[in-house]
Amino acid sequence: MTHSYATHLSCPKCKNTYSIEGIHQLCSCGSPLLVRYDLAKAKSKVSKESLSGRESTLWRYHEFLPVLQKENVVSLGEGFTPITSLNRLGSSISLPSLFLKDEGLVPSGSFKARGAAVGISKAKELGVTELAMPTNGNAGAAWSLYAAKAGITAHIVMPVEAPEITRKEVLISGGRLYLINGLISDAGKTVAAFVQEHDCYDASTLKEPYRIEGKKTMGYEIAEQFNWSLPDVILYPTGGGVGLIGIYKAFRELLELGWLENDKLPRLVAVQSEGCAPIVKAHEAGESSSVFWENSQTKAFGINVPKALGDFLVLEAIAKTNGTAIAVSEADIEIYQRKVAQEEGQFICPEGAATIAAATKLRESNWISHDEQVLCLNTGMGIKYPETVLSKTIPTLEKGERIKEEYH
Ligand SMILES: *Cc1c(COP(=O)(O)O)cnc(C)c1O
Ligand SMILES: [Zn+2]
Repeated sequence: MTHSYATHLSCPKCKNTYSIEGIHQLCSCGSPLLVRYDLAKAKSKVSKESLSGRESTLWRYHEFLPVLQKENVVSLGEGFTPITSLNRLGSSISLPSLFLKDEGLVPSGSFKARGAAVGISKAKELGVTELAMPTNGNAGAAWSLYAAKAGITAHIVMPVEAPEITRKEVLISGGRLYLINGLISDAGKTVAAFVQEHDCYDASTLKEPYRIEGKKTMGYEIAEQFNWSLPDVILYPTGGGVGLIGIYKAFRELLELGWLENDKLPRLVAVQSEGCAPIVKAHEAGESSSVFWENSQTKAFGINVPKALGDFLVLEAIAKTNGTAIAVSEADIEIYQRKVAQEEGQFICPEGAATIAAATKLRESNWISHDEQVLCLNTGMGIKYPETVLSKTIPTLEKGERIKEEYH
């Protein structure tokens, strides 16, 4: 059986094509490259029914992933995360069909493991021994762990402000960690200089074409888990936007495969924080690319990306699906993070909470109607960000002291 139907890389801007074998980073025109597959052939050989019974990881979709040889797959069991129904919270915000896909339940505790699994596997297949990347924390953590498994040296540059746990994930797995007094965009410049000087693989967001393929599998899973009949709206916490671009790419591939029950794609919503909302600003202005967001700041660190290389692809995905982009306040992120924990028992990350806050706002403005199926993406587990939870004064007892209810 063919392990992959990947055929080549193509540029979404200038339509240039490149071989799937050999190392390619950006297109010569500066745009990210996308992996293309022989879907017509795949369609005649693979059926969606044949998926049932396969392993419950993202590798169940291996025909639509870029790793050509099975022995190059580096896996820690990532993918096929649960979709839970947020009944109680949903009813309280007039969205009875509110769902959450919980990406906290993957190795390293964030969905960055998807991109790392496929990105690292492909890097291994291409003979890469050393790579470098800028990160807001989670990607660096995941790539460092998967690189360790693959025997690849990873140089990781992250802002000093990035969640502290992600430093430790890099350190424990033997990654070469560098902190920078600045934002991810500053880390990006440092990495660009480093890869030039050291002739090293550049694993920066969208500068290699394979991370997006890993993230794309969220779209395949959503389709399979919703029985090939997609929800009406999907909300995604958008930083670099790779996940959203990936989900859209997945749906387009599934349309081509003829696996979806109907042609109507979900309206895709890019959710950002008011402290860093370049995509929202561009969308509202009807622009096809974004402008660098000065002095960006948000506790949802994964979406603190002042300028994304793939911004035009995010804006296109939103436009083509009649979706939208919306910013939520820092206060709302905190409120909804607590609400989800208290009403649904799920401790989600601030980025995930932003999507619930956004769903609430979009319901209030009637952009989403009462009877629509709405899916929010929780991109990481809350326990990775203990510092974002306000700890109120906790009653501390002396040995033998009785509990008095009025403490709470
Ligand atoms: C990276 C990250 C995001 C943003 O992902 P993109 O696909 O790059 O937009 C959202 N949430 C968390 C927890 C992240 O780590
Ligand atoms: Zn190009």
